[in-house]
Amino acid sequence: MTKVYQKSPAFFDTFERKPSMQKTTHYCPGCGHGTLNKIIADQIAELGLQDQTIFVGPVGCGVFIYYYFESASVSAAHGRASAVATGVSRANPDSITISYQGDGDLAAIGTSNAIHAANRGENMIVFFVNNNIYGMTGGQLAPTTLIDQTSATSPTGRSIKNDGYPLRMAEMIAGLEAPTLVARVGVNNPRNIRQAVKVIKRGLEIQRDKKGYVFIEVLSQCPTNWRKEPKEACEWIDEVVCKQYPFGVFKDLAEERGAVERPCKRVEFDAIADQLGLTADDEDASQKIEMLQDELRFKFAGFGGQGILSLGMMMAQMSMERNMEVTWLPSYGTEMRGGVANCSVVVGKKAIGSPAVDNPNVLVALNRPSLDKFGPMVPGDGLIIYNSSLIDQVPDDLQGKVYALPATDLASEAGTVKAANVVVLGFVAQKTGMFGLADLEAFLADTFKKPSLLEVNLKAVKAGWDAAEET
Ligand code: SF4
Repeated sequence: MTKVYQKSPAFFDTFERKPSMQKTTHYCPGCGHGTLNKIIADQIAELGLQDQTIFVGPVGCGVFIYYYFESASVSAAHGRASAVATGVSRANPDSITISYQGDGDLAAIGTSNAIHAANRGENMIVFFVNNNIYGMTGGQLAPTTLIDQTSATSPTGRSIKNDGYPLRMAEMIAGLEAPTLVARVGVNNPRNIRQAVKVIKRGLEIQRDKKGYVFIEVLSQCPTNWRKEPKEACEWIDEVVCKQYPFGVFKDLAEERGAVERPCKRVEFDAIADQLGLTADDEDASQKIEMLQDELRFKFAGFGGQGILSLGMMMAQMSMERNMEVTWLPSYGTEMRGGVANCSVVVGKKAIGSPAVDNPNVLVALNRPSLDKFGPMVPGDGLIIYNSSLIDQVPDDLQGKVYALPATDLASEAGTVKAANVVVLGFVAQKTGMFGLADLEAFLADTFKKPSLLEVNLKAVKAGWDAAEET
C-alpha cells in the first residue's frame, strides 16, 4: 500500500507541464483537487487497474489531469466529459473509464450529458468535484454556489429569487434507477478522507466488475476563490458547506447488480477505408518527403494575429499532400490571458501517437513570451527559430541550435508584416529540408488566388528561404 506521503505509482514520476514545476501540481495551495487525485491514484494502484484506466478530463481546474496520472487520457470539450466517457467506455469495454468533472463543467454546461450517462447506467465512474464556484475562470457563481455565498458574479450573495437553489447533484442522480453507487464525500479533513478512500475504492471495484454507473460527488475546498486560508477553507466545509450538501452514500446496489455487458463490434480501419473507396497507397515511400528525422514535432508560437495557426496549417497541409502522417493541434492557452497562442504540428512517416508537442524538434517563436516559455523545452539537437525583429533578448539556457530570423522586417520589405509567417515557412522548409522552394511557390499559388496577395507571399517565402541559405 502506498503511504500517504509517498507519490502513488499511478502518477508519473515527473509532471511535464512546466520545466519549473515537475514535482508539483498546478493546483493552488490547499486545494482539494490534489488530495482527491492522490486518493484516486492510490486506489487505482492498489487494485492493479492502472493499465486499464482511461481518464476523461474536463475544462476547469481539473483540465491538466493528464499530466499527473500515468494512464490513458482524453480531454473533453466543456461539459462533455460524461458523453465522451460514454464513447470511451463502450469502445473499450475492458477499461476503467473515469470522468473527472467540476461543478461548472458537470452541473452547468454539461448537466444533460451527465444525467443521461447516469440514466443509461454506463460503465463509468464520475468524480464530481463540488467547490461551489467556478474555479479556473475566477470565482463566478456556479449552480452549486450556496445561498448568500458571494462570488465574482454575485457580489451581494446568491439570491434564490435571482439564481434559484443550489443543485444537489448526488441526490438528483440517486433518484434515477440505473446508477449503481451514488455518494458524497469530502477531502477536507482526515476523517472525511478516510471515508472518501473507502467509497472511491468501492466505486473502482464496481468498475472492475462492470457493474454500471458510479457517481461520487466530492466536496472540495477552493481557498483561492473562497478568499480563505486553506485551514479556514477546510473548516468551512464542515461548518457550512456540508449543511447544504450532506455527506453520505445515497445508493449502493453493487451486491444485487450483475455485470453490464455492452458488446462493441470492432471495425477495422482497412474496412472503413474500403467502404469509403480510399485505397491506401501510403506504403509508397517515394511520395514521402525527406526530413531530418522520421518524425518532426513542431511548435509554432507567437501573439494572436501573427498567423501562427495558419503557419502550422500550411506546414501540415503541405506535408499531408505529400502523403505524410500529420496532426495539427491549436492552443489558445487555457491558463493564459493575453499571452501566447501556439499550435503543435507533428509530421511523421508512421502513425502518430500523440498530437501534443512537449519537447519540439523545431520551435518557431514569433514573440518573446513564446521563446521564454518554449525555448527551454527544445532538446540539444532541435532547432529554435526566433523572430529577431521583435525579440531582442534570448534566454541563455537554450540547448537547441538557435537562428535569429528578422521575420517581421523581411515580411515588411516583401510588402506586408502580415506575411511574417510565410517568411518563416520558407526558412523552416529550407532548414529542415522538407520542401523545395518550387514546392512552396506551387502551394502558395494554390492558396492565394488574388494576384497581389500571391505576389507578396511569393516574395516573403523567397526572403525566408534565402535567409536560411545564408545562415
Ligand atoms: S482555483 Fe480553486 S479549485 Fe482551482 S486549483 Fe485553485 S483552489 Fe483549486
